[in-house]
Amino acid sequence: MKKVAFIGAGNMNSSILIGMVNQGFSANDIMVSNPSAPKREALAQQYGIQQSEDNIKAANFADVIVLGVKPHFIKQVCREIAAHVDLSNKCFISVAAGISLQQMQSELGDSTAIIRCMPNTPSQLGIGMTGVFANSAINSDDEEFTNSLLNGIGKVLWLQSEAEIDDLLAVSASGPAYFFAFMEAMQNKAMEFGFSEKIARELVQQTAVGAAQMVIQNTDSIATLRENVTSKGGTTQAALNVFKVGNLDDLVDNAMDAAKQRSIEIT
Ligand code: NAD
Repeated sequence: MKKVAFIGAGNMNSSILIGMVNQGFSANDIMVSNPSAPKREALAQQYGIQQSEDNIKAANFADVIVLGVKPHFIKQVCREIAAHVDLSNKCFISVAAGISLQQMQSELGDSTAIIRCMPNTPSQLGIGMTGVFANSAINSDDEEFTNSLLNGIGKVLWLQSEAEIDDLLAVSASGPAYFFAFMEAMQNKAMEFGFSEKIARELVQQTAVGAAQMVIQNTDSIATLRENVTSKGGTTQAALNVFKVGNLDDLVDNAMDAAKQRSIEIT
């Protein structure tokens, strides 16, 4: 079984690590490194994995090295590891937004297997959506292992090009916040109607879960599901007409273009 090092004990790496343990990966095959002790020690205590403050020790221990530090630390961490660790047969997985394969290859070398992945926040619950693209140095073994590792945090989609990461980011990585914004607006209006904050939240969250489950469980298109609940001259149509007049489609189109553009700018 491959050994895995998590560089950084933050939110995203913790989610992947917990997903691995929950899937039955052996804790003995997992090490986490982080400069400050509390987060790495908490993970070690709770999940029985190994921990260190030393990235080099973790990288030497592992076959697969998951880079989960903030984007501005990625190159520095790659340089540190490349200077002290034999990289042949190591595979790197980076979750950092905006750091290209080329930027990592400039530190790790073109022949080092590197996989870029873009998860989203529901990964914390094991229901995330992760887009993945790798450089040409990876082999089928690396690909298979990456799938098994990321399946612990949700669904995995292999992309056709690195540029598609910007598209995916505008859909699934930033997407949860779009739904939060919509739910927040609905909750505010429900409270204006007179519902308490608690009840308003419950009404909105249960509606969102129900709508999402209907999309998941039906083979009908999303447009058909919308039409099925919209009777002519009814209440839902009255609301949807307001969306139409306000150009909701254009608003969403522009918002997602803006997210994609920002992703291109920061890479
Ligand atoms: P975080 O701040 O929770 O975690 C980063 C961790 O790295 C911290 O524990 C920090 O102490 C540690 N760290 C800092 N310097 C280090 C070093 N030199 N060596 C080892 N560890 C070091 O951040 P996060 O939200 O988990 O984000 C981590 C990465 O995941 C980012 O690059 C981000 O772009 C990416 N990402 C996060 C999300 C998300 O939903 N949180 C989604 C997609 C991508």
